Amino acid sequence: MKRVLTGDRPTGNLHIGHYFGSLKKRVEIQNSGEYEQYILIADVQALTDNFNHPEKVRKNVREVAIDYLSVGIDPKKTTIYIQSMIPEVAELTVFYSNLVTIARLERNPTVKTEILQKKDIFGESVTYGFLGYPVSQAADITAFEGEIIPVGEDQLPLIEQCREIVRKFNSIYGNVLTEPKALLSEKKRIKGLDGNDKMGKSLGNAIYLRDSEEAILKKVMSAVTDPNRIRKDDLGNPDVCMVYYYHQLFDTREEYQNVCSECRLGKRGCVACKKELAQHINRELAPIRERRKYYEEHPEEVDKILIEGTSRAREVARETMVKVKKAMQLDYFGKE
Ligand code: SF4
Repeated sequence: MKRVLTGDRPTGNLHIGHYFGSLKKRVEIQNSGEYEQYILIADVQALTDNFNHPEKVRKNVREVAIDYLSVGIDPKKTTIYIQSMIPEVAELTVFYSNLVTIARLERNPTVKTEILQKKDIFGESVTYGFLGYPVSQAADITAFEGEIIPVGEDQLPLIEQCREIVRKFNSIYGNVLTEPKALLSEKKRIKGLDGNDKMGKSLGNAIYLRDSEEAILKKVMSAVTDPNRIRKDDLGNPDVCMVYYYHQLFDTREEYQNVCSECRLGKRGCVACKKELAQHINRELAPIRERRKYYEEHPEEVDKILIEGTSRAREVARETMVKVKKAMQLDYFGKE
């Protein structure tokens, strides 16, 4: 079975952008029976831009694990593990750092964009750790001989960077590492309720998987609608309305086509339309909320899942490390 590697930085709860962008796909991959899936909770990577807030990262490790379990990630089929508990990844990062130039990292479009976005953290001078996170990511992928990496378009340069590292390593030390392939996710990034292209906590425009029914209704009521529509019988344009945008995500085809035609004909009020949307979001999130409640009440089960997943993952990383050290002539005295 091909290995699929994916993961998230534990810097906050996961929202519906993650749900449509990656979580649903992971459940699909898991249940296809065609892949062996590993999901890493990238706490070390989260520290690259949260090094002064370790408590935030620590707290969110369990939160993100609960988000995974809530959406249907099954720990019997998918291995969930904590990055910092796999020391082989840190070792590989050191070895790979010789195979990448500073200039190449600075040219990486994903890193360049992120550095600009994080000016408030780094100012004019980015840290060595943040600049080098693609190298650590290459270590994550190759430690598990990850063949398929599901990513959004904006992440493609990171996979390309990893592939370059693999090719360089193999050309110097022999054919040891597996070159991964990106699997482009079909869904694009989900816009925020305010119409912003990005959804996030700092922007205050996200719906979280853990939000209560009341919180969702409140957020939906604040969503941006067609600004030219004042009265209920004004003819509307759903194409400029975020409520309609979300109806298309959470409704059946018949439901959202109905929203569209009623809006265009002026037969639908925005308040009722928003309430209906909130109901449909809650319909989708109800089973997720129920599973979350179970795991929140059983934190010891979550810890057990993380301990067992991390231990399984470590075994795989150890096997890779034996091969890597042998190839690099670092297997002194027959030891890895
Ligand atoms: Fe948007 Fe619905 Fe109002 Fe039309 S009726 S503008 S789709 S909220």
